[in-house]
Amino acid sequence: MATLNNTIRASVFLILLGPPGSGKGTQAEKLRDRFGFLHVSTGHLFRENIAQGTELGRKIKELIANGELVSDDLTVAMVMDRLSKPDTMRGVVFDGFPRTRDQAIALHKALESENKHVAGAIYFQVADDVIVERLAARRTCPEDGAVYNLKSKPPKRDEICDNDGVPLVMREDDRPEVVRNRLEIYREQTEPLIEFYREMKLLVEVDAAQDIESLGAQVDLLVPTLITNAH
Ligand code: AMP
Repeated sequence: MATLNNTIRASVFLILLGPPGSGKGTQAEKLRDRFGFLHVSTGHLFRENIAQGTELGRKIKELIANGELVSDDLTVAMVMDRLSKPDTMRGVVFDGFPRTRDQAIALHKALESENKHVAGAIYFQVADDVIVERLAARRTCPEDGAVYNLKSKPPKRDEICDNDGVPLVMREDDRPEVVRNRLEIYREQTEPLIEFYREMKLLVEVDAAQDIESLGAQVDLLVPTLITNAH
């Protein structure tokens, strides 16, 4: 398993845990804007690799389209590479990572080796039917990765990215048949992390069925306490 080549600058590490479509990405962006955290979305980093046609991108394209998980080794290596860059200074919010017990352990060990640790894992709790409905309405910008929801967070112009005017697309893995697979994988591989972080006394739960603004307010209230506890 990969380890760090360089010192990690950040001292605050937050994990957003929850099923696909639970709003982790949207809230991670808000935390980035509000607290200056670096938003590390492994899904976004993988999609960037696919779009750029890198060697990693070619390896994982098929897996991602089918909603399968990328191997722990490749995922952890990519995250460690990202953490070794200088812009982590104000802290890191992980969205979609870790997704397996081995990834969580790898992160734990990498941080521990630098006398650092996870400040908290915020669990976004939401029922499956809400997820399926949300993902059907989710659209992303193929250019800058911005995420919209046609119902709850629509772009200003019909299915056009607010940032760069590029037409929005539906992610291939947001198709209903792939979503079912992703939810099953989530139950098997990722859900056990709820207990993992609960046992470590790092878990806090939020009701992710509420609207974006109310959820954001709840998350905002939690973060300062988590940060304080981390020091
Ligand atoms: P996301 O954007 O978080 O929904 O991730 C999209 C896809 O990227 C997932 O369905 C997986 O195929 C892959 N992926 C993202 N994060 C991870 C991870 N931590 N471990 C393995 N695969 C991942």
